[in-house]
Amino acid sequence: MAATERDAAGRISRRTLLAGTGVGLGLLFTAAPSAHAATLRDGSWTNPALGYFPNGGHFGAPRGDASHAGQDITNSVGTAVYAAAAGTVIRRQWGGGLPGRTGNALVISHGGGRYTYYGHLDAYRVSLNQAVSAGQRIGDMGATGNVTGPHLHFEIHSGGLGSVVNPVPYTGARGVDLGGGWSALDPDARGQRVRAVQHLLNQRGHGLQADGWLGPTSTEAVKAFQRGSGLVADGQVGPLTWPEIVYSLSQGANGHHVRALQTVLNKHSAGLVVDGDFGSVTNSAVRGFQSVNRLVVDGLAGAITWRALVG
Ligand SMILES: [Zn+2]
Repeated sequence: MAATERDAAGRISRRTLLAGTGVGLGLLFTAAPSAHAATLRDGSWTNPALGYFPNGGHFGAPRGDASHAGQDITNSVGTAVYAAAAGTVIRRQWGGGLPGRTGNALVISHGGGRYTYYGHLDAYRVSLNQAVSAGQRIGDMGATGNVTGPHLHFEIHSGGLGSVVNPVPYTGARGVDLGGGWSALDPDARGQRVRAVQHLLNQRGHGLQADGWLGPTSTEAVKAFQRGSGLVADGQVGPLTWPEIVYSLSQGANGHHVRALQTVLNKHSAGLVVDGDFGSVTNSAVRGFQSVNRLVVDGLAGAITWRALVG
């Protein structure tokens, strides 16, 4: 298992790492009363890959005289790798052009001195300088470079390229569980997942405009749904609300709930027409998503598939 991982990917000097950690901790703990933290869960971040955390693959783990600069996520070669947030591909090269890293790598700039790094890729699915959206497929997990097995080496830089922070709490504060759990969206969130929630509520009789904004009207609809489901009516769509609000769907279904499914499939590069018709094309898209995320390939969009789609 991955305790034996000896990759040099992500090796950086301890001095740089500590400086980066300091930046991250400052952001997380000095400016994070809950009201502020809540606004971070705005739907702009997403899980870059489905897998598990290998032993020794955590941020800060010893790597000789240096420290591990990211979080490893293990799955098999070919597992889909997605952009964790919208941005522009600024590096598409061995080691990302950064010291100590090996293997095929992408670096995406998200503006504001924020970057994400995707290492050991088997294949690239984007070009240099390409603009990407959150959840767009950008590559395939691999084992290129100095590794003992396939995994995604995922880094987040905040405060400039080279200023790494621990990706697990960073994304966690933004409603993303790198370990593969349900995402969390707060009122005022935007994006395809919000649009899916609106379609799911419309399936229950609401007449929401599917504009992808969890504004006051949609938030009230979420709260009404939560009250009716015995949940805390806080208007947040998180790990308790998601499993209740999604539908198990398979070929032949038709309705707003299928539009929701098609919307989150499109977030992951499916390219479907959002017509509410679960026909053969949507069936192929569900199976394709399940396949590249190493889920059971049965064409049934149940809770596990939904969790991966909205993660
Ligand atoms: Zn790594």
